[in-house]
Amino acid sequence: MSKATEAGLTPPPLRDDCFALPAGVDWTPVDTALERLRVGLDRVVGQETLPLEAALGRVLAADVVALRANPPEPNAAVDGYGFAFAALGEGDQTLPLIAGRAAAGVPLGHAVPEGSAVRILTGAALPEGVDTVVLEEDVSANAREIAFRAGVTPRANTRRAGEDVAAGDVILRQGVRLGPAELALAAATGLGAVAVFERLRVGVLSTGDELVEPGQAAGAGQIYDANRVMLLGLVGEMGFAPVDLGRVADSRADLRQRLDDAAGRVDVILTSGGASNGEEDHMSALLREAGAMQTWRMAVKPGRPLALGLWGGRPVFGLPGNPVAALVCALVFARPAMGVLAGRGWALPQGYLLPAAFEKHKKAGRREYLRARVREGCVEVFASEGSGRISGLSWAEGLVELPDGALEVARGDAVRFIPYASFL
Ligand code: AMP
Ligand code: MG
Repeated sequence: MSKATEAGLTPPPLRDDCFALPAGVDWTPVDTALERLRVGLDRVVGQETLPLEAALGRVLAADVVALRANPPEPNAAVDGYGFAFAALGEGDQTLPLIAGRAAAGVPLGHAVPEGSAVRILTGAALPEGVDTVVLEEDVSANAREIAFRAGVTPRANTRRAGEDVAAGDVILRQGVRLGPAELALAAATGLGAVAVFERLRVGVLSTGDELVEPGQAAGAGQIYDANRVMLLGLVGEMGFAPVDLGRVADSRADLRQRLDDAAGRVDVILTSGGASNGEEDHMSALLREAGAMQTWRMAVKPGRPLALGLWGGRPVFGLPGNPVAALVCALVFARPAMGVLAGRGWALPQGYLLPAAFEKHKKAGRREYLRARVREGCVEVFASEGSGRISGLSWAEGLVELPDGALEVARGDAVRFIPYASFL
């Protein structure tokens, strides 16, 4: 019965555990959810061959083998004079200098007689008869001879052929994302093109009657759609192909139509809003209707409901509407899942243990992610944990991950800081 009295309805008293997780409900621990995603998903993208200059940010579809050694030939590591070490005697040295020089890309073209030296520049292939180079600064030279002190070691200032990479070595593994360094390695070892996976097409859709387009006039009760630009940007930074699916009102029919359309042109769909079990939570309702739906109540803060399902065969991540929760769930759950779909394989972000510049009493039963940044080697957290505080996302440079159990964090305790970039 209601608590009606003659004076009208009285709200129930606040319970002292009103912000605690309800007892007896099945909250899915983060690691359990991640394990389910890891085993449940597979690569969905095809592959193509791209020239190196078009391959930045792409994921290798096959191991890459060096076509050529690096360096390809023994060469000089400095500007100086080259000779055969074996011909040196004891003590300080004077060697006759032969005419000509060896420069990078312009070989000497003939052998250096034993006991003689030749002018040689950085990167020049060692001429026959040269295995050691003395640094220019350590030498007195005129047109006919050079002199230098005792103590030069055999093969000094030279690089061996293949000392970095041998021809035939596997230089990069399938699943590696190509950054500038990987492109340099492929180029240096003779590759002009690589086999990569097609980019994962990730659709981003916002839901909610209250949303209006950024920059447009907003009426009473309306808010700007912040999640869409955020998630599209995130997807792009992760190296996937963002596809803007726009915005739909809280209408089941509209949402259904938009998802049908999206399933034909993207590989995975990220939505935000409507993911829990309220009367306007059409995202979870639709996925449930489609029969392939899990509402995972994640034991995570911020976050909680995450509607996971398949729509037209495409995985759908129904993220929470709160921007902070949407971003955290996208980073923590959707990112590793999309990595698998995209051929990168399963990988969790690298975190760093650093001293806390804050104190916190953390309850048991859920993992927590705090907006955080590093200053002077210590981790600071944003003043408010409110999940509507978009300013905190921008203030932060990453997240602090606090483990599932209860925890007292004191200043100076090591906490795990995960830079935003680790999620990319
Ligand atoms: P919901 O998950 O739909 O109940 O939304 C939770 C909260 O997030 C509500 O305050 C929404 O207004 C807000 N919200 C939902 N979608 C967005 C969005 N795209 N941009 C900014 N806030 C949003
Ligand atoms: Mg909503």
